[in-house]
Amino acid sequence: MSSRLPAATNQSEQSFSDPANPTPNPALISDDARIDFWAAQASRLDWAEPWHTTHRFEKPQVIGEDQDGNPTYSVPEIAWFEGGKLNVAHNCVDRHVEAGRGDHVALYFEGEPGDRLVYTYADLQREVARASHALTDLGVVKGDRVVIYLPVIPETVIMTLACARIGAIHSLVFGGFSAEALKFRVEDTGAKVLVTTDGQNRRGKVVPVKVNADEACSGDNQIEHVVVVRRTSRPGNKQLAAGTRGARSNDELEVPWTPGRDVWWHDLIKDAPTVHTPEFFDAETPLFIIYTSGTTGRPKGLVHTMGGYLVQTAYTHALLFDLLPDTLDDDGALRPDELSMVNDPAKVDSTVHWCTADLAWVTAHTYEIYGPLVNGVSEVIYEGTPNTPHPGRHFEVIERYGVTNYYTAPTLIRSLMGAFPHGIPQIYNFSSVRLLGSVGESINPEAWRWLRSQIGRDQVPFVDTWWQSETGSCVASPRPHDPQFAPPGTFAAGTPGTSPKPGCATRAIPGVSVRVLDESGEPVETGHQGLAVVDKIGPSMARTVWGDPQRYLSSYWQQYGERGWFLAGDGARLDDDDDLYILGRVDDVINVSGHRLSTIEIESALVTHPLVVEAGTTPVEDPLTGHAVLACVVLTPAGAEVSATQLHDELCAHVTREIGPIAKPREVIAVPDLPKTRSGKITRRLLAQLYHNQPLGDRSSLQNEEALDAIADVMSARRS
Ligand code: ATP
Ligand code: MG
Repeated sequence: MSSRLPAATNQSEQSFSDPANPTPNPALISDDARIDFWAAQASRLDWAEPWHTTHRFEKPQVIGEDQDGNPTYSVPEIAWFEGGKLNVAHNCVDRHVEAGRGDHVALYFEGEPGDRLVYTYADLQREVARASHALTDLGVVKGDRVVIYLPVIPETVIMTLACARIGAIHSLVFGGFSAEALKFRVEDTGAKVLVTTDGQNRRGKVVPVKVNADEACSGDNQIEHVVVVRRTSRPGNKQLAAGTRGARSNDELEVPWTPGRDVWWHDLIKDAPTVHTPEFFDAETPLFIIYTSGTTGRPKGLVHTMGGYLVQTAYTHALLFDLLPDTLDDDGALRPDELSMVNDPAKVDSTVHWCTADLAWVTAHTYEIYGPLVNGVSEVIYEGTPNTPHPGRHFEVIERYGVTNYYTAPTLIRSLMGAFPHGIPQIYNFSSVRLLGSVGESINPEAWRWLRSQIGRDQVPFVDTWWQSETGSCVASPRPHDPQFAPPGTFAAGTPGTSPKPGCATRAIPGVSVRVLDESGEPVETGHQGLAVVDKIGPSMARTVWGDPQRYLSSYWQQYGERGWFLAGDGARLDDDDDLYILGRVDDVINVSGHRLSTIEIESALVTHPLVVEAGTTPVEDPLTGHAVLACVVLTPAGAEVSATQLHDELCAHVTREIGPIAKPREVIAVPDLPKTRSGKITRRLLAQLYHNQPLGDRSSLQNEEALDAIADVMSARRS
């Protein structure tokens, strides 16, 4: 096995002068210091060979002109840790077993019907070994693509790690996606193997899945084998389900079969050896392709590579989820040592992490698969929907496993708020929880406060982590030990600037830097809305869009050309403390008479109204003002009793009070549900298209297509 080798170019301890200092002020990070910082953090991993070049960045260069005389650019090239060799699965699994932690729990699995399994790191090592042999036996070699269309079950994690182990490029697809969405990903990746299940547990029902997989493989593709995990016909569910309220057993499903192509997973791994010798790959070897959520259009298949991705993932997971050792600063305050290249073993041992995302989402890749495992903590994975069989299911899970970190999405918090309008009943014990986190969208302050008071005792840190599929791991977030979260007695209470800021992504993590700029690249004034730009990237930045490097250039790099700054596509502003607020998609900005309004701010105001559960706002055309605000709202039962006129008047008055008359919606429309991507983001552009009765754009990423028909009905009733 490999040993931990010194980094080839690591002079970091001397030269990285003040890394704990907050950015977004980019002046605080010099290029050399940043690169040295990441070289130091790379020593968190086992490398079989050291790298020769820590970082190489070929910025876009002007290569010509388009018809309108605008410059055209070359595609940028990014590399980290070139020459270094590592194995990602070895780092996430074997390494912990070798360090004597084989008995430590890696995964607590809970199925929707109530079945439970526990995998230690040693168990995981054996299972990943078997799956690696099985893939190799199917003819999968380095660079081949494997599409993993599975629910949140241990096999998903095992197969993902097995791909990483043998150098196959995995692409996870949400198990609830349609055959059409899967087909696009199977064809776009040119995958050789598709992994799926017989059926799935979804919302208390068993639904067939293999049929979707077959349909997805019916076109022009490279699929040689379909591997089928037995999930819904697994024996023993009934017995294991005891102890879960509303538990049930599964029925056997009919599974369509193509002989020669299809193979059961359990047959494949039956005789496979439980020991597997890893190969070590160049740091820039592709690890996975992740499709964006598709909030703004056809999903992009972003390519992440092994070394850089795992380094930033390991570091940010430790930073955000409080694994770094504490030190005392000059004022005697307790702070995590943000520079530390090792974790605090006591914190690692006592962590039970739970990221509630579906494994196919980038959040789960980084903070549910690779991050927790590379850091050797225990974590929960839960198969089902949060409200099956009852809306308190998550609370049961937190209590049962003693979850310490509950990392979830604003949409889920809002739905819990809707389900428990009088707060969570006192029957659950949340005393294990020591950190909360959110990702996926700007969190409405109302939802932030609710979760922190209901589950976090108004005390625990709350990390609002801003990042994207493109950036691979977190870019900006409050720190768990920010003074604002100080437990009583740890910090001087009432220190200026230390009150919590709900809904604030706060500042860039060490080693990256963020600016808020206008379109020409000038900083916008404090308090004004601009574009969120990552002007100094970290090692987990996506390297390209699979099969479409021009889209990579045009989506992210063209705007700031030779300056080499990454356009994130989100609106943002800085407050007086230079803390960062993300204001939603640039595409969603509402421009009323030259005033740029943030969809998320108007929505956040609307959801503080007692009649509103959720809100989606979008710009609609207005001959006078350019844009007007359209507000679609999901109402509480009390809200449904109110007349349309009264609702309009009350909510407009409310927004006027909270933000100002300029943000007042032109129209307020009550809808049964809002269209959302699989990762829980409101697809605002569809609201505008439905409103204008225009053809709808890409819908392949929606989790609730049926919402569209319901909204269309409401809109057409309104028009007539
Ligand atoms: P597409 O790029 O296809 O439109 P997408 O951007 O929704 O899809 P993701 O990469 O899954 O796909 O989502 C990243 C986006 O999610 C960010 O750009 C941002 O808009 C939003 N986001 C994520 N976390 C946060 C957060 N903590 N605060 C605010 N917004 C967030
Ligand atoms: Mg995006």
